[in-house]
Amino acid sequence: MLGAHLHSNQSQTTDCVDVCIVGAGVVGLALARALASVFPDRDIVLLEQHGRVGMETSSHNSEVIHAGIYYAPGSLKALCCVQGRKLLYDYCHSMDIPFRRIGKLIVANLDEQHRLEEILARARLNGVDSLQQLDAVQIRAMEPNVQADLALWSPDTGIIDSHSYMQHLLREAQAKGVMLASHTSLEHTSVKPGSGGFDLTLQSARQTIKLQSRVLINCAGLHAAHVARTIEGLPSSHVPQIQFLKGNYLRLSGKSPFSHLIYPVPDPAHRGLGIHATLDLGGQCRFGPDIEPVNSLDLAVDSSRIPLFSREIKRYFPGLNEEKLSVDYAGIRPRLLTNDGSAADFMIQNDSTHAIPGLWQLFGIESPGLTASLALAELVAKQIKDSAIF
Ligand SMILES: Cc1cc2nc3c(=O)[nH]c(=O)nc-3n(C[C@H](O)[C@H](O)[C@H](O)COP(=O)(O)OP(=O)(O)OC[C@H]3O[C@@H](n4cnc5c(N)ncnc54)[C@H](O)[C@@H]3O)c2cc1C
Repeated sequence: MLGAHLHSNQSQTTDCVDVCIVGAGVVGLALARALASVFPDRDIVLLEQHGRVGMETSSHNSEVIHAGIYYAPGSLKALCCVQGRKLLYDYCHSMDIPFRRIGKLIVANLDEQHRLEEILARARLNGVDSLQQLDAVQIRAMEPNVQADLALWSPDTGIIDSHSYMQHLLREAQAKGVMLASHTSLEHTSVKPGSGGFDLTLQSARQTIKLQSRVLINCAGLHAAHVARTIEGLPSSHVPQIQFLKGNYLRLSGKSPFSHLIYPVPDPAHRGLGIHATLDLGGQCRFGPDIEPVNSLDLAVDSSRIPLFSREIKRYFPGLNEEKLSVDYAGIRPRLLTNDGSAADFMIQNDSTHAIPGLWQLFGIESPGLTASLALAELVAKQIKDSAIF
């Protein structure tokens, strides 16, 4: 089997599996767990180019369990966020994964009232009925350091220990027989003619491995388009354009001035949720992420961003002491763009897209991908089951 070969010094060996999942981020892990339940007798391998799981975007995000407020009604983002949020809270409960249903305020000034109303209407269309409207007095009572005239209170928003979550997914998947091949990247794929399936070329630290798989699932996050380009037989028209949008975070030293998550009303021109305040489970407050188009995957955060952050934060937190801000970390969104340049929906490709049986590809899994992960996994697992490929 693959695992044995990975620990030998042989090269050019060939193994066969039923399912090969590329990428052990939170989506690949959730999918491995789901598929192991749906197909208990199938050989499933999960490839990860790094030494550990979840080292890319899945560990460089806000760790917020989103309610499902902002996304276009009927979109995969909306459906999978709302469904995924419920599944994730249940999973956290049942597995003892650290989380807090801490809640969030979306704060606005009087001249932004119409935008708050649009958000409320959209949330209701998405099935998020728990939002409450607050006035300035209610906001002050809840968050004395926040200055705002109006707010929406979302009690269903939470925070999670994403590392613990991913470790639980991995443990469950492995217990059900999924084989994790870390330090192993998929380099090249050719679509087998006739009976179908894929010939894969993998590279580990020590050797080149040939693998055959009946099903191939590309959930390589930031690298998904690159992986797709290395599939011989997949027309390039099925490889979408992905833009890398870096999100930088700044940390606020000392005790957090807030006890809930604080978000400004998103400015449509800025293509993001605005510089918001999040808390981690240790109570540390940080601000971000902003939006910075980048061409590389460099995660360094530049302190020159502090004045811009400060200006944005002071709109709802006038008491900010800028000297308490310092650079923290960054993550990068793999964004699919619509024709007008706005964020497109998650994209799931299968044979109805490209006519290659057994090939599933996930593109543009940016926020709320962490929240949506269990729902995305259920959706793809169901598509594979319904395809009757096994
Ligand atoms: C700044 C920021 C903030 C966010 N905040 C939130 C939030 O608060 N809440 C929320 O719900 N979502 C949030 N998200 C979104 C969420 O983090 C992502 O949607 C999610 O982590 C995507 O997971 P993934 O498994 O698709 O991708 P990744 O985590 O990127 O995993 C892909 C994996 O594939 C591996 N890989 C790539 N190519 C190969 C190859 N050829 N061979 C083998 N392995 C390969 C990579 O090493 C990587 O481990 C945020 C994202 C960003 C950038």
